[in-house]
Order: sequence, then structure tokens, then C-alpha cells
Amino acid sequence: MTDTDVIVVGAGPTGLMLAAELRLAGVGVVVLERRPRINEVAKAGGLGGQILHVLRYRGLLERFEAASGRPRPTPQFPFGGLHVDFTRLAEPPMEALLLPQPRIEAVLEEYVRECGADVRRGHEVLGLDEDPAEVSVDVRGPDGAHRVSARYVVGCDGVRSRVRDLAGIAFTGVSYPEVNRLAHVTRPPSVTLREDGDYEAPGIGLLRSGYTQTDHGMFAIASMTPDELTVYTSEEDPDTYDDEIPMTVTELADSIRRVLGADLPLGEPITMTRFTYHARHAERYRAGRILLAGDAAHRFPAGGVAVNAGMLDAVNLGWKLAADVAGWAPTGLVDTYHDERHRAGARTLMHTQAQVALRRGADPAAEALRELLSELLLDEDPVRRIGRLIAGSDVTHPTPGLDQHPLVGTFAPDLPLRTAEGTTTVATLMHTARPVLLDLADREALRETARGWQDRVEIVTARTDPRPADALLIRPDAHIAWATDVGEPHDTAGPALRDALTYWFG
Ligand SMILES: Cc1cc2nc3c(=O)[nH]c(=O)nc-3n(C[C@H](O)[C@H](O)[C@H](O)COP(=O)(O)OP(=O)(O)OC[C@H]3O[C@@H](n4cnc5c(N)ncnc54)[C@H](O)[C@@H]3O)c2cc1C
Repeated sequence: MTDTDVIVVGAGPTGLMLAAELRLAGVGVVVLERRPRINEVAKAGGLGGQILHVLRYRGLLERFEAASGRPRPTPQFPFGGLHVDFTRLAEPPMEALLLPQPRIEAVLEEYVRECGADVRRGHEVLGLDEDPAEVSVDVRGPDGAHRVSARYVVGCDGVRSRVRDLAGIAFTGVSYPEVNRLAHVTRPPSVTLREDGDYEAPGIGLLRSGYTQTDHGMFAIASMTPDELTVYTSEEDPDTYDDEIPMTVTELADSIRRVLGADLPLGEPITMTRFTYHARHAERYRAGRILLAGDAAHRFPAGGVAVNAGMLDAVNLGWKLAADVAGWAPTGLVDTYHDERHRAGARTLMHTQAQVALRRGADPAAEALRELLSELLLDEDPVRRIGRLIAGSDVTHPTPGLDQHPLVGTFAPDLPLRTAEGTTTVATLMHTARPVLLDLADREALRETARGWQDRVEIVTARTDPRPADALLIRPDAHIAWATDVGEPHDTAGPALRDALTYWFG
């Protein structure tokens, strides 16, 4: 008998999201976090990408919106020193919510405690021991050293993951030498925001919005709201810095002077961060009863994607571990976590490394590449594709070996639904994180097929116009596991549904 079902090491955004998903599925979870309090050093400035949809599908987005209290920023995003503008698209594929990382963690931690997770702060994991039935961790806590055992341990313990090292999982890749500084400051009255979106600054004159490559690095300026400036520099800086020491306005001003060769007036700091870029990927996300998620599993050399990727790892993993703990997981279900999320991580590495090439290139060929891409980004289709790539929403999870309807593997659309009880939506159905067979055409025979799984699969009959399929089987992470075309006869739809139910839900 283990102390708990799952031990999550690390109470960053990934570990807390995983704890939330596990608790939704009724799994016992202990979160071990070495810091006695939330780290107040600002890292991510907000949430962006696909995780915003997932949080809405869990009924959690409103908590983050309330904590943010700030207007949603204009849908624009940096991409390798270029500026991608999603404002021309009717439905921007990449959106963000401004909320400094310590506040993201505070909202999540409050929620997971409400859900009944046991979050133990001041508890550092030092060792690991695994046997075929369980895994134990050695912990140094406020009351001394002790052991905790569980069915699984998930290392959500960040870039320098001890769990990853103890499991012997390689974390290969490269590091880049530039120091990046990113700050949101209030806009001082002397810096004018012009109607065309550019700026006038005393002693400098015209400053173009977006990125400027100089002989000494990269400078960027933009405004998410008219009262604020987002300022960024990137330079090869031989001085090392300490992550634990917050950046100052003076440090930023000095960097701007080196990169731009001018003094830019800056207002009051709102958030300030500095970082270097690394491209690293854990060789495996699973070694027996030990799994990795978030920064412990991947590190990307461009901003704005890591929290999204880590929290999406958690959502993919949570229900699979829960199924295993509950005893109904089909063989190989937990392994699909590595298959699906390692592929997603590789894709994020692909585009963030492409951004490094775009950003760092200083010769005329690199200039030509930037010009070419800027030209492509004037068209809607490439902008949409890049947006989905950054958001992590173009990653699909097909069901291997089974016939694929085009919807299979995609994130379920938030259809408005009419049921016998009233109106609802797909997002609302996903609040409980249970698999759903959504019958959109009153197909009794399909519902009958699914009844064999009704202890774990919700069966919902509803109408929506127009309907994208006669029925959808939706995984707890809101990806479509199976779909049947409008009017497809039961002699093909029924067996295909049975195969998909067996593949995903045992
Ligand atoms: C300056 C800076 C700016 C950034 N800006 C952005 C941004 O704009 N957008 C974005 O998406 N990302 C950004 N990131 C990256 C983002 O902060 C990380 O991707 C994110 O924190 C990863 O979350 P995580 O939960 O996987 O890991 P972490 O947040 O690193 O959490 C790991 C947790 O594990 C704990 N821990 C570690 N070892 C142990 C142990 N042995 N025992 C117990 N607990 C342990 C740590 O104390 C920590 O709380 C930035 C990072 C930095 C440094």
C-alpha cells in the first residue's frame, strides 16, 4: 500500500496543473515543493496559446481573468525578431492573458488545494527508489528526512530537474550565448506613441515599433496598452547574472544604451526579466514509474511558449495516470503520453530553433530570409499557420492503427448543444474531465455500443446545427478520439467506435 497514488515534484505551473487534473479524476496526489513560498521573481508575464482554451474547458479561465484584471493584449506575437500580427484574422489563433507567473501559480495552488491536493511546501526531493509496483522518494522537509511512496512520480521540477537526473534520462541540446532582457514599464510622457504605432523619443527621434537589429544585438519596443511599453534587448553579454537577483531599470537602460547606442527614457517597472536561451529535450518523458513534464522535459529557445507547453503536458498526462491508478487503463495508455507530448515538444523546438536562426543571422542572407518571411506574413494563411504553431494548437493526437476521420486527434470544437435538459456546450461538458460520447444525431445503436464503458465514459445526446459529425468520442483532454460522418451506417460506425473505446478507455 503506497502513501498516495501520484507524487508530483515541483509546484510550478506544470506540477500544479497536473495535480488539478489528477484531483479532478479522484486520484490521490501529494505535491512536494522545495520552496517554502511561491517564487516572486517574475518569469512568464502571462498565459498564452492553447492552454487558455483548456482552462476555459475546465471552467477555470475566469479565475485567471479575475486575477489578471487587465485587458487582453492585442493579438500579436514576436517570432524570431519578426512581428506576427493576428489582428486581421477574425479568430486570432494565438491569444494571451497578462498575469505574472507568481500570480499564475497562486491561482493554481489555491485551486488545487480546494480540490483536495496535498501541497507540501518546504519539501525537497533528494532521492528516488523504484520497484515494479511502486516508487518512493527521499524527502527533506521542515520536520527532517522521510520517505513518501506512490504508484507514480512525476518530475515537474523545472530545468535542472533532479527527478530527470535520478531517472537517468538524458537532456540533450544546445545553449545560446545571448542575454535577453524583457521589461514592461509604464510609458513616460516624453516617449510619444504615434498614430501609426511607432514612437518618438527625446534624443532618438523616430523609433519603429517592433524589432530593430543593430551591430550590437537586437532591440524591440511595443505597447500592449497605450500606457505601457514592452522593451526587449538581446546581446552577447559576457557578464553572468543570478536568476535570484531581480533585474533593475538601470540594468535595462544600460543594455539599451549598448544595443541601440542611445538613452531611452523608461517609466516605472511593471515586470522585468532576463534570460538566456537553450534548446534541450528529454530523450524520454517516461522511465518506468517516473515521468517528466514541463521544463524538466523541454527547454525552448524563444519566449512565450514554455508555460503553455508544460501545462498542456500536464493535461495530456493527468487522465492517463488516473486511468492507470483506477485500474482501467488499456495497455500502453501511459506510454501515449511520451508519444504525443514528445512529438509536441519536438514541434515547439522546431519553431523556436527556427526563430533562433531568424533572430541571430547577421549576414545579408539572414536579412533576406527575414524579408521573405515578413512578406509571407502579410498573407492570412501563413499568419494563421504560424499562430497555431506558436499556440501549440496544431498538434493532433491520432488514434494509431484505426481509421481516421479528419476530426480525430483535433481539439474538440466548442459546439453549442441542446439536450433534453436544456442548453450546454462542449466546453461545459469537459469541466469534469471525463471522456464523453457525444451523440449528435440520436444514434441509439452507438449509445448502446458505448454503454459497456459507461462507468468511465459519459454518454450525452444533443443537437447542434450544423453538426460536424453524427457522433464524437472526446478524451478528457478534449481531443477527439473517434468521430463518425453524418449518415455513416452502424455496421461501420459501431465497430470503429468499439475499437476506439477499447484503445483509449480499456
Ligand atoms: C526570466 C524568465 C522569463 C520567462 N518568460 C516566459 C514567458 O514569457 N512565457 C513562458 O511561457 N515562459 C517563460 N519562462 C519560462 C517559464 O518560467 C517556465 O517554462 C515555467 O516556469 C516552467 O514551469 P514548470 O512548472 O515546468 O517548472 P518550474 O516553474 O521551474 O517549477 C519547478 C518547481 O520545482 C521545484 N523543485 C525543483 N527541484 C525540486 C526538488 N528536488 N524537490 C522539490 N521541488 C523542486 C522548484 O522550486 C519549482 O517551484 C521564463 C523563464 C524565465 C527564467
